Order: sequence, then structure tokens, then C-alpha cells
Amino acid sequence: MDYYSSQISKLIEELSKLPGIGSKTAQRLAFHIINMPKEQAAQLATAIQDAKDNIHYCCECFTLTDQELCPICKSAARDHGTIMVVENPRDLAAYEKTGKFEGVYHVLHGAISPMLGIGPGDIRLKELIARLQKDVKEVIIATNSSLEGETTAMYISKLVKPTGIRVTRIASGVPVGGDLEYIDEVTLLRALEGRVEL
Ligand code: ZN
Repeated sequence: MDYYSSQISKLIEELSKLPGIGSKTAQRLAFHIINMPKEQAAQLATAIQDAKDNIHYCCECFTLTDQELCPICKSAARDHGTIMVVENPRDLAAYEKTGKFEGVYHVLHGAISPMLGIGPGDIRLKELIARLQKDVKEVIIATNSSLEGETTAMYISKLVKPTGIRVTRIASGVPVGGDLEYIDEVTLLRALEGRVEL
């Protein structure tokens, strides 16, 4: 890409590292950014920098937050005895959008995948088990219905069952291999309401 100045090439190169951004889209975005009013481009740069500097994992549920505890974990209105286990913060957001789940979450940051060499120690499972020491009534496993999601669900149910805490799995109305975040709210609610004992 020598036909652009090195700074434009650098911008295109950085943008093309983002997921789902091919080189054509990266070029389009780069030119869009260059044509933006200066303040708008500065706001974008600041938002990236601030997010990077201040966002970390909630110390309770491990979702992303800019405080020690996320707003859900902090809320007294939530049922802290019901924990929904999800693979990532986007899945949490999908369930939050339904506005119908009153419990709290636990974000694993991945799923067990022997194929990819991701074992139980690579996701936030230890932290989930530690949370069960508190007054927990139910663990709802809402991992994806992919092979990895199902493997993870089985693994969690085996860990939780001996504690006597109720373990449920969201219903399989969710299409196999479907990422939770792309599924509409009605389907998510149906999956939650139709959850089954493990
Ligand atoms: Zn939290």
C-alpha cells in the first residue's frame, strides 16, 4: 500500500486488524476518519483510549466495567441467589436487553474447547465455583448451543451438582451453533423460561 502516505497506510493497517474488517473496509474507514471533523476524530481516539485505560473485569461476575463492581452486581434490586452463566459480555447484554432476567451473571470469557486447546482452567470457572460459597439457589447455564457450549455446560453441571445447588440449562430453542447475541429477545426469553434441570 505504498501508494498512500505512510500515515494513511498505518491507519488502514491498524483498522484491518479489527475482526470482520477486510482491507477494503479498512480503507473505506480510514478515509472516512480522515474526512471527519477534527473533534469527531479526537472523540473516537479518546473513547478508544479511555475504554482501554478504564475498562476491566467486574470483581464479582467478570463482565466488563469501569468500576470495581458492575451495575448489575451492585444492584440490591437483583436476585443475587440466581446466577446465569454466559460465555461473554455480549451474551450478558443480549439477556439484559430482554429486561426480564432479575438474577445476576457470571461471564466465563470463553468455552471449553479441546480442539482449540482451551481447558477448564482457561475460562473463569474457578471464580464461578468460589461464588457458590455464598447463598446461591440456582445456576442457570446459558452457554451457546455449540459443541463447546454444550461441553462447558456438562462440565459446569458436574461441578455444581455435588453442592446441592439447583443447576438448569436454557432450553434448546436456541439454534445449534447459534451465538446467543444474534438471537431475538423472544427466543431468548422462551429459552430461559423453558430451562431444564440438569
Ligand atoms: Zn458484575
